[in-house]
Amino acid sequence: MPYTDPMRTQETLVSEAEGLQLFLPFVAEPPPVGGERPLLSRVLARHPSRRRIVRMVDLALDYFPELEGIPIRIGIARGAQGYASLDEPAIWLNPRGLCYQTIAHELVHLLQARGEVPLGERSCDLYSLARALLLVDAAPVYLEIPAALTGPRGTLRPGASRLIHDTAREAVARRGRGERRYIRWFENQVAAKAESIRARAGPGIV
Ligand SMILES: [Zn+2]
Repeated sequence: MPYTDPMRTQETLVSEAEGLQLFLPFVAEPPPVGGERPLLSRVLARHPSRRRIVRMVDLALDYFPELEGIPIRIGIARGAQGYASLDEPAIWLNPRGLCYQTIAHELVHLLQARGEVPLGERSCDLYSLARALLLVDAAPVYLEIPAALTGPRGTLRPGASRLIHDTAREAVARRGRGERRYIRWFENQVAAKAESIRARAGPGIV
């Protein structure tokens, strides 16, 4: 199985047959000038949202210098927000409701494949949140974020992106200093900060 992350959400899993269909027909062309631009699967190359998706991935890649010069293949995910391969630099994204947070999460999986980020979905979420403020445009899937910071369908309330990003950066720094429970620390910190903001501002305002 080339897939490592079939459960970006708790929704229907992509069947193996469907996954293979998406996996096999990558366009076998050299990357365009610059070398680091994504290669599109045939499915994505025909997709009406391809320009938006490629633009978003390109922008996200600006914050992943480790992947510079590496052609990353992109396909379409169905039934999940996205998934990634640990065997080759390839990610699959669901065009519907695509956010930078999902793209960042899948790109961090590629860093995990290179041994540059600790393995695991929660660690993947944390490192994707720490990467850049712009990439924190939705709540992560695997980490606990207080309801006071989120809106409908995983959106974030004003100010929440900054709070989450800054705390994730601090958690990653702590991990670098040997803190083993850095993910739990992040969740506790975000919860405490959200509570203190809520207490100051009154209910429902963050
Ligand atoms: Zn994942």
